[in-house]
Order: sequence, then structure tokens, then C-alpha cells
Amino acid sequence: MELTIERATKLQTKPNWSDLTFGTTFTDHMFVMDYEVGKGWYDARIMPYQDLPLSPAAVVLHYGQTVFEGLKAYKDDAEEIFLFRPDENMKRMNDSCERLCMPTFDGQFVIEAMKQLIEIEQDWVPEVDGMALYIRPVMYATEAHLGVSPSKQYRFIILLSPVGSYYAEGINPVKIAVESQFVRAVKGGTGAAKTAGNYAAALKAQEVAEKEGYSQVLWLDGREQKYIEEVGAMNVFFKIDGKIVTPELNGSILPGITRKSVLQLLRHWEMDVEERRLSIDELLEAAKNGTLEEAFGTGTAAVISPIGELFYKGEKTVINNNEIGPVAKKIYDTITGIQSGDVEDPFGWRVQVI
Ligand SMILES: *Cc1c(COP(=O)(O)O)cnc(C)c1O
Repeated sequence: MELTIERATKLQTKPNWSDLTFGTTFTDHMFVMDYEVGKGWYDARIMPYQDLPLSPAAVVLHYGQTVFEGLKAYKDDAEEIFLFRPDENMKRMNDSCERLCMPTFDGQFVIEAMKQLIEIEQDWVPEVDGMALYIRPVMYATEAHLGVSPSKQYRFIILLSPVGSYYAEGINPVKIAVESQFVRAVKGGTGAAKTAGNYAAALKAQEVAEKEGYSQVLWLDGREQKYIEEVGAMNVFFKIDGKIVTPELNGSILPGITRKSVLQLLRHWEMDVEERRLSIDELLEAAKNGTLEEAFGTGTAAVISPIGELFYKGEKTVINNNEIGPVAKKIYDTITGIQSGDVEDPFGWRVQVI
């Protein structure tokens, strides 16, 4: 497919990188392509960033047929720009599409379009360590019809948004409330897809937890509310008695690319790793008998987010003295080092843009 480029005639003045708040500043251009059943993907274009028309009857507004992704572009000291494992994002987005009865697409074509878009917007990639250009691919159902069936038309867009350092004030462990009322996803549901409905369904628990002074919730499984799934929009890892344990992918957990990278790193370092079911009771028991050494979340936004305190059914559990542990620190330094080009990349995770 051909990619056409229409340049913006007027460019914004770049913001002060130090003033950025997540997801509120967008660059001058975006990528758009359209789909229609029987025709396939067509009209791939890079165009000036602008509002896009949408029918009030569009399927996405009524039935939530939409999926998204999140990844980042990093500028290194030589002013070269790299992506981190973009092929994994494309693969996961196609899996999400499959689950939501949406059309799949050629991931390699989209990566090439993404690279061209970033090249045009290269001045929007902050060169400051810890900062990056956040990339948000989204696909949504645009057909105007109120019948509950898959849309016959879709739009795929990519937005770019410069983001500041997640840890501008240093890596401080977060306090997490273990959610015992609401659930995020169930076996057989859409938990493994990056689709809007999962996030809308999670807002309430997040709101309640925040009111009580917790920054995120730890989700338990949707059937028994007994087994640990993930934290907010991050996967979760624990160090118990020398072993690193993370919940196994069971269909309701989002398969994080950071999770996958962390597992690869830990195995590369020949550490003991277990992907298995882990109950909240086992975890709190480990905390009580002193074998719970570390806890941390993993995701593109923060890379690693250490957990310093868990709150469950009226009881508080402090982990590792509310400090980042050595394993979390080593993973954080290695992954952010690979992303910024300061650490060698033995896995070929970096993909050069320019
Ligand atoms: C995106 C996401 C993650 C983390 O995935 P990464 O690919 O590591 O960024 C974890 N859980 C949920 C619910 C997510 O949406």
C-alpha cells in the first residue's frame, strides 16, 4: 500500500519538556488509514493533526469496538531515534483485533508508516534522559449502524505525544489497594486485549482506591477473587524466597511487552523464575513469614514501578521497607539503559527510526 504525506502548513511551538503532563500534548502530524469490508485497508496517509469526523451512530460509540497500543520512541546521545520492540506491539494489536472481531493489518507496513511519522516529528522526541515520544496506535469501528454486529468500516490512527520522565522525583514505591469488590476481567472475557471496555470497567475501583490514598489497585481473578492478576495497567512480579514469581498468562491478564522483556532478562541472568498462579493468601503469608522480598509492576509507561505497601481487607503490608529492591533496580537500569542506548542490547530489542 502507498503512503501519502500532507505536511502541516503551520507548526506549533514546542513546549518546555519539563512542563509535560502525560498525554496532553500532541505533535503536528498523525497517521490515518481506513478499512472497509470487501476493499481492505486503503488511503494510508500522514496528515496534519486535527479532529476527525465521526457519525453519531458509529459502532465504536455504542458498542466499544476499538483497540489500542502504547509504545515509545527514544532519542540517544547521538540524536538517533529508536523504538523498543514495535513488532511486539503490532502482534498484540492484531491479537486484540482478532478478539474484538476487527480487521487485522500488516504490522510491518504500520511500523514503516510509524517510522516515517516519527521522522517528520523528530524534533518532538525529547533528547533528555527518561523522556520519550509516546506513540498511541488506535483502531475503531466507524460504520453507522445500531445493530449489534461487527462494523464493516474502521479507522486506524497513530498519535504522537511527547512525555516527561515518569520518575522526575526519583523512583518512589507506590501504595496499592488489593481489590476485593470489583474485578477487571474474567476467563473468556477481553482481559488479554487492549480494548477500551477493560479500562472503562476499571475506573470505579481506581477512583475508590485513590480516595483511600492508594495509587492503583491489585486485581484478583474474576471468578474466585483469590489469584493475583495485575496492577492497574501493569503486570506484576514478586520476589518470594529468592524466586521471581509472576502470574501466568491465563487469558484474562494483559500480555505486557515489558513483562515479556523482564522474563527474558531474568532468565538471561539465570535467576529462578516462575510463571504460575499465585494467590493473595500465599503472598500475604510470604510477607508475614519474611520471605516476600520485593514486589513491582511492569509496563511501558514506568518500565518498573516498585510496590511499597499493599492494603487488603483492612490490613497493611509493607514490602522491602517501602524501598525499591535490588532486582527491580537492576531490571529498571537495564531496560531503560537499552532504550536510551547506554546499555548494550544483546536481544535486538531496539529498532532504529533514524
Ligand atoms: C498495556 C498494559 C500493560 C502493560 O503492557 P506493556 O506492553 O508492558 O506496556 C499491562 N496491563 C494492562 C491492563 C495494560 O493495558
